[in-house]
Amino acid sequence: MPSALALFTRDLRVSDNPMLTAAAESTHPVVALFVLDQALLSSTTVGPNRRAFLHESLLDLSSSLDGRGVSLQLRFGNWCDEVIEAVKLHEATEVHLSADVSQFAQRRQVELKERLARCGVELRLHPGVTVVEPGTLRPASGTEYKVFTPYYRKWCEVPRRPVLDAPSLFSAQGTVNAPGAVEVPRVTDALASGDSILRAALRTPEDQLAPQRLVGGETVARKRMREWSRSTLSNYESIHNDLATDQTSHLAPYLHFGCLSPNELAQHAERIPGGGPFVRQLCWRDFYHQILAARPEVGAVDYRPRGDVWNSDSQAFEAWATGRTGYPLVDAAMRQLLVEGFMHNRARMVVASFLTKDLYIDWRLGAAHFLHHLLDADVANNQLNWQWTAGTGSDTNPNRIFNPVLQGRRFDPTGEYIRRYLPELAGLDGASIHWPSPLDRAIADYPLPIVDHHEAIAAYRNELQRIRSS
Ligand SMILES: Cc1cc2nc3c(=O)[nH]c(=O)nc-3n(C[C@H](O)[C@H](O)[C@H](O)COP(=O)(O)OP(=O)(O)OC[C@H]3O[C@@H](n4cnc5c(N)ncnc54)[C@H](O)[C@@H]3O)c2cc1C
Repeated sequence: MPSALALFTRDLRVSDNPMLTAAAESTHPVVALFVLDQALLSSTTVGPNRRAFLHESLLDLSSSLDGRGVSLQLRFGNWCDEVIEAVKLHEATEVHLSADVSQFAQRRQVELKERLARCGVELRLHPGVTVVEPGTLRPASGTEYKVFTPYYRKWCEVPRRPVLDAPSLFSAQGTVNAPGAVEVPRVTDALASGDSILRAALRTPEDQLAPQRLVGGETVARKRMREWSRSTLSNYESIHNDLATDQTSHLAPYLHFGCLSPNELAQHAERIPGGGPFVRQLCWRDFYHQILAARPEVGAVDYRPRGDVWNSDSQAFEAWATGRTGYPLVDAAMRQLLVEGFMHNRARMVVASFLTKDLYIDWRLGAAHFLHHLLDADVANNQLNWQWTAGTGSDTNPNRIFNPVLQGRRFDPTGEYIRRYLPELAGLDGASIHWPSPLDRAIADYPLPIVDHHEAIAAYRNELQRIRSS
């Protein structure tokens, strides 16, 4: 019997998921599939935190689909090969997929489309990864908006796609099991019982996980959206830079894995008084997605090349990555990343500036470290925020410098954020914690600064001068 394949990727939800709704509206029964892509899972970019988050999100999705009469099936291997096999097994005549933007995702999509066409099967791409689809807004010249503010103005005017309810139609159609065919494991069965390859691909030893990381899944995401927006959203403008209270939504990983629809979140926030500044942040997310969609190579190469000859100081990089630079705010933030798989946005800007300007180390190394540890690691947001901070990206002021001591005094005035992640400095008060004396450092076994900020920035500026004039 012919079927419609709902191919999940990073849209792990049933609510406001155009891909799933379109599959549910098909005249054929639905097969729901997620393929664990061998190429992604064997790369170091998908670290243990994201693997565990994915695992939890799949279990949650699987249980939501079960409740609607469809079992989520799981495959592991070459993504296109596995989809094609599932298409043949279930005699699928249509495949539904959320369109995505990274070079990796775009290449997979193109390959799948070609291979399906050879089997006479149509690949139908749907929106859902962003609020406004990449490419909807185009500047007068060029393929993408390069500057945020004009993009934001236009973005606010785009009519929003209506929010879709979770489909409830599957039980009427039933799921498909090809007669006599080998059954692909359901997500829950695959993990609970035998399949060692699938288990190994998803499970991660507890000791490799950030101890205080968030738990994945649409159910948790929706609860967080409701509770956070009730308690905090209207104060977002005044609280979002405060490091110690760390009251931003922490919804980024749920947006990355699609446990939450950005379209639904934006419309929800737009209705709440004071929600505007938060919605603006969602626009930054769309802004970077539309750049990456048009220029997928900028996940790896400079958006605005300057000809930098970066330092290759592995000891300095190691001090930065482990939180031992001697700059308390930088070190606290880098240790937050290790224990939570998360870092506050203000802190991300400070540590990225420190790596790329004070240490003048290639943004790609910092971005790779973030990709490995962040739960919300996302090629568009991560690489292009790194480029923004490094001065090779979309910042209209590429010479911006963050002074890590002044940033600490301003955004963590009492030192509470630093004390939380650097227990060795817990005895210092708000006045001294941002720049401990040599004696305090010695007592606390806390390192001396690895560079002098002012000297490092002077050297950085000289280097930029040299590059520009050469
Ligand atoms: C060097 C660097 C690396 C970053 N890497 C990532 C990344 O890998 N993944 C990621 O989602 N964000 C990244 N960001 C952006 C931002 O720091 C995080 O989105 C934010 O801190 C997540 O916390 P939150 O969900 O509480 O955000 P909130 O403040 O609650 O914001 C709501 C949502 O808006 C979006 N958003 C907020 N700020 C930005 C921004 N500057 N750019 C794009 N979208 C934004 C996110 O989806 C976020 O969840 C990075 C920023 C920097 C400076």
